[in-house]
Amino acid sequence: MQRKGMKSSGKRHPIFTWNFYEGEIVVTKHGFKVKKRFSLMTGVIFLVALGGWTELPLEATYERPAVDAETALKANFYEDVKIVDGLDSYQVLVNKNFALTPDDAPKDLRVIQVLDANRNFNLTIKMRSRAADMVEQLFQAAAAEDYNLLAVSGYRSYPHQKDLYEYYVQEHGKKEADRFSARPGHSEHQTGLALDVSSISLDGKITENFGETPEGIWLVNNAHLFGFIIRYPEEREQETGFMYEPWHLRYVGIAPARIIQQNNWIFEEYVENVLGMAR
Ligand SMILES: [Zn+2]
Repeated sequence: MQRKGMKSSGKRHPIFTWNFYEGEIVVTKHGFKVKKRFSLMTGVIFLVALGGWTELPLEATYERPAVDAETALKANFYEDVKIVDGLDSYQVLVNKNFALTPDDAPKDLRVIQVLDANRNFNLTIKMRSRAADMVEQLFQAAAAEDYNLLAVSGYRSYPHQKDLYEYYVQEHGKKEADRFSARPGHSEHQTGLALDVSSISLDGKITENFGETPEGIWLVNNAHLFGFIIRYPEEREQETGFMYEPWHLRYVGIAPARIIQQNNWIFEEYVENVLGMAR
């Protein structure tokens, strides 16, 4: 009865031997065939016994692991990195998959005329000219309504970002540092279009609490009027790659900022849906 090439598996038992032949189970006792066909119940008992004996799961169960919001990030962050082509556009996309080179630096940087974190007139923080104009208007409009913003960090060169990132890795470990500090070449601060802000009420400190200050709330509602977006909104870390940063403003232009605000988008969605560029 054994057909050549059809035997798929066999198990050795002191008395009984069973073999699978194409769709049938054949049991032999001391080499003599004892039963070839089984009732349904016998077949089930036999298969359960065989399953237990061989420790093969008869029924595979798979429970989906719980998603950890902090770690369930886009799978290819910092992999498949594309180099950004030119810094001229106010809608330049720089993130964990689009990078600037060490030599990339905007040509139209200037010092922004606002208060810094120490409440002194700023002498060092720079942004691109157009973004600087708009941030000054934004600070003035806020001050007119008694919201007191302070500028903390604007343009950062590639080497500056490298030092900063390496410092955070040393302090917090790489995994945690990657949540809030971009690796060199991947920081929006290198575009000259980003500004970290704080308030007098927070004494110029960068903290998540900023989102709950009157200034933080005012920015959520008004930054787009000056062409800025809150670049890393709450609960979008899996897509942006960065934790909630209510303090990080990014200049994109007034029309794009309005569209992003109206649709509740992150910048990547604007790039994909409006500029037609794959993220
Ligand atoms: Zn920032």
